[in-house]
Amino acid sequence: MSEAMVVAQQRGGELNETTLECIGAAREIAGAGGRVTVLAVGHRTEGVVARLSECDCDSIVYVDNPVLQDYTYDAYREVLKRVIERVKPEIILAPYTSLGMDLYPGLSVEMDIPLISDCISMKREDGKVIARRQLYGGKIEADYSVDGRCILTVRPGTQRKCGSGRPSKAAETVDLAGLHARTSVVGYETPPKEDVEIDKARIVISVGRGIEKKENLPLFEDLVRHIDGAVLAGSRPVIDSGWLPKGRQVGVSGKTVKPKLYIALGISGAIQHLSGMSGSEFIVAVNRDRDAPIFKVANVGIVDDIFKFVPALINQLGK
Ligand SMILES: Cc1cc2nc3c(=O)[nH]c(=O)nc-3n(C[C@H](O)[C@H](O)[C@H](O)COP(=O)(O)OP(=O)(O)OC[C@H]3O[C@@H](n4cnc5c(N)ncnc54)[C@H](O)[C@@H]3O)c2cc1C
Repeated sequence: MSEAMVVAQQRGGELNETTLECIGAAREIAGAGGRVTVLAVGHRTEGVVARLSECDCDSIVYVDNPVLQDYTYDAYREVLKRVIERVKPEIILAPYTSLGMDLYPGLSVEMDIPLISDCISMKREDGKVIARRQLYGGKIEADYSVDGRCILTVRPGTQRKCGSGRPSKAAETVDLAGLHARTSVVGYETPPKEDVEIDKARIVISVGRGIEKKENLPLFEDLVRHIDGAVLAGSRPVIDSGWLPKGRQVGVSGKTVKPKLYIALGISGAIQHLSGMSGSEFIVAVNRDRDAPIFKVANVGIVDDIFKFVPALINQLGK
């Protein structure tokens, strides 16, 4: 029977949502009859455990210790080592966040467990784990196969979140004796909160270099206002030019989005852009070049000038 373990990520009692994607992926990879254990690490973070106990997992191990109030590499590594030795999971999944980037490479070396980082998809085939990740700035996608125990860190926004459920038994709280950290956190500097979270939106309208200049943005902002639940995002040139803030960038060096509807306006469809949006449920692309690669992933492709198409669409929506 296959045992997958998800390491939940939280800070200050707030669960990182990629944890839910990891549980969803773990459930699929564990397969029918496989078990999914979730490990929660922290101090007095019962709220997180309560939230996890509504997720589709089989058991929760909660390590509660004052040393774990804030993330430190040495204390977390020690906890993971001890829990992995105890639970003996075959596959360990965790979010590919700054914490994930810091923690798992060292753990992988120390425990001699192969690590595949920044995975965008994963599956099990003939007993092996096959995980896909991108190389060379998203130009190539490579499949890695591991036979035996492995750690997979999962790129945020790439997996379906787990459904609701209930673990078969109450969360087991463990206080690891003798846990200490050589490092301590002096404080956090939080970046300014993003005005719009494009990865949570139902509808994403994305503009590309085809809009030509910042002064043309109001037309597309007007379109967004006409569509309930829509937010405005952009391709990298739009962000690099300072026309939209960094938090609005879709793609390999921006955010991965999977909205119900993605509308690409004046975007060519470079691989680095596609990797951030091709998982959208329905894609509409408008481009005046009929050979633009974006049409390969679009459900509806419209060959037109965005400066003609968008005003006409706003006009229709206004009616
Ligand atoms: C390491 C690395 C990371 C990267 N990360 C990202 C990333 O995260 N996100 C990202 O988007 N890119 C990223 N890129 C850049 C990527 O390679 C492309 O350069 C970029 O996606 C192109 O953006 P675009 O489609 O807006 O512009 P272009 O490729 O210039 O395309 C503009 C399109 O608009 C169309 N157009 C022009 N005028 C009109 C009009 N009036 N009406 C209709 N259509 C029109 C054109 O036909 C064209 O297809 C990255 C590149 C590298 C090397």
